[in-house]
Amino acid sequence: MNHPESDEIIGVDTDDLLYALTFDEQKKVLNAISFLANCEDIGTPEEYADYKEKQEREQGCEYCLKNKPIKGIHDVSIAYVQGKELLTTYSDPFYNLHLDIHYCPMCGRKLKEED
Ligand SMILES: [Zn+2]
Repeated sequence: MNHPESDEIIGVDTDDLLYALTFDEQKKVLNAISFLANCEDIGTPEEYADYKEKQEREQGCEYCLKNKPIKGIHDVSIAYVQGKELLTTYSDPFYNLHLDIHYCPMCGRKLKEED
């Protein structure tokens, strides 16, 4: 199906106006309407932002899935998520921590043992 460019979409709200259009204009309008009819209803921009955030949270991020180091947590030199633990690495190993966590501190995903 041909997707109309956004600047080709012409707003029409009465039949009279639709009949007043040229054949090409009418075709553009009908294409736009059928294009919109095939679009998923994703709600308001705010609802979509919530939906997208929730989806990203469920998918996880590079911090909780790929052990990417998290920098800048207080004076911890490096911290990273492994499974359900937040591990920290100080230059002095005496201060290293293993914290049990349930959610990724970066994306909020619920962590699983096997991650
Ligand atoms: Zn994450």
